[in-house]
Amino acid sequence: MACLFCKIRDREIPATFVHQDDEVFAIEDISPQGPVHLLIIPRRHVESANALGEPDEKLTGRLVRVAATLAKSRGVDERGYRLVFNTNGEGGQTVPHLHLHLIGGRQMQWPPG
Ligand code: 5GP
Ligand code: ZN
Repeated sequence: MACLFCKIRDREIPATFVHQDDEVFAIEDISPQGPVHLLIIPRRHVESANALGEPDEKLTGRLVRVAATLAKSRGVDERGYRLVFNTNGEGGQTVPHLHLHLIGGRQMQWPPG
């Protein structure tokens, strides 16, 4: 059975798309943790950062560059923002399809919860 983000990619579940190209798409997070909260997602189903191989280096670069472009278009690039890949249980990953969180528009704290 397809995972949640594969279903969103295939338009079986609705989402607000904010970017699409041949390798990645980006959507608004359904439960935003800041004024800006986007998810940048590879079109291909990759479970997590643990599943990335050397041939995926271009893909991960694309995820980060798209995130930076979206941060600029949302006007948070100069103020600052956070990019996060939650990975597996203790990392807080709940959807087993790699995704990069872009969170911004408020002051972030460190350490993260
Ligand atoms: P994770 O917890 O795996 O790092 O991130 C999964 C993210 O997906 C969470 O921030 C959660 O709010 C978001 N999410 C869960 N279900 C949906 C959904 O149906 N649509 C959208 N747009 N986001 C979702
Ligand atoms: Zn998937």
